Amino acid sequence: MRAVTYVKNNTVEIHDKPVPEIAPDEVLLKVGGAGLCHSDIAIIGMGDDNPLIGGTLGHEVSGTVEKLGADVQNWQVGDRALVALILACGQCRECLAGRDNQCETVYPREALAPLSPGIGSPGGMADYIAVKSHHLDPIGDLDLVAAAPLADAALTPMHAINTVRDRMTGDATVVTIGLGGLGHMALQILAATTGARIIALDTDPEKLAYAEAHGADLAIPSDGSAASRILAETRGVGADVVFDFVGVQPTVDLARAVVRGGGAIRFVGLGEGSFSYVAGSSSPLPWGVNIERAYGGNRSDMRHAVALARAGKIGVEVVEYSLDDAVQAFDDLHHGRIQGRAVLVP
Ligand SMILES: [Zn+2]
Ligand SMILES: [Zn+2]
Repeated sequence: MRAVTYVKNNTVEIHDKPVPEIAPDEVLLKVGGAGLCHSDIAIIGMGDDNPLIGGTLGHEVSGTVEKLGADVQNWQVGDRALVALILACGQCRECLAGRDNQCETVYPREALAPLSPGIGSPGGMADYIAVKSHHLDPIGDLDLVAAAPLADAALTPMHAINTVRDRMTGDATVVTIGLGGLGHMALQILAATTGARIIALDTDPEKLAYAEAHGADLAIPSDGSAASRILAETRGVGADVVFDFVGVQPTVDLARAVVRGGGAIRFVGLGEGSFSYVAGSSSPLPWGVNIERAYGGNRSDMRHAVALARAGKIGVEVVEYSLDDAVQAFDDLHHGRIQGRAVLVP
């Protein structure tokens, strides 16, 4: 079968690999769509001695059940499913507490990330993927291509939003920075599930036009005047919650500059911006600010995202590529030529 393989620094190729054998607790999924994420670009840029070299990429995967392991119940050949982002054990203390995005079994403290398809386990940018049945959720009649990115591009903002949901009351102001793959879903989730006033930022005028049409109350350029604009819009108080889906230095600085006292910041984007904490009264951070380095989401967040998509309340803006054009898709994402989410279709 075809499999998009990380072969060396900043290089992917389509290799011919055997169709995976399945264990008794696994199903063979015929891939319907595999989303392409900025973290795929980050992973393949991690050098020539990265342990992930040789692996098949793809952590946003939907498909149709092709074959069942001997012990699998509750799934039938032909069922349509979404693969969980994090291949959590379901049994450890974190999993049982609903924090399966921090599963201690698949996330040793020193690891790059929890075990995921395409990140330590063979991914879904291929014709087939073997998956433990308990890592699948049904998607009903959702389109397989549109469903695939829900596994990360909707799940991750959903999780970040759910961690601060109680702050997003009708009189709250939320700032969301970056309207790419995750950010355009965050905007829709905020609009569909909170009553907060939404200020959306990006550097791309097309993405700002998209935001205005998809629930932003105000869409403004992410530039040097953005902080003063947001403060002016909030009586000088600042925003209740700031989501940073970019994570470069200017956006990290912007988040800190506009969060209100007692507000919250969720850093999601992996742009290598940095943030130093000063434990003193000279700190530029207002008192009471809550900050989280949000990662992925749990199974409950995933079901929440799938339910909103099935109800037609959120939808991924898909740019479809044939699996054979994977190298082009990586190049297009790397150079900012994708509006929404690229999805590879076998
Ligand atoms: Zn991702
Ligand atoms: Zn676990």
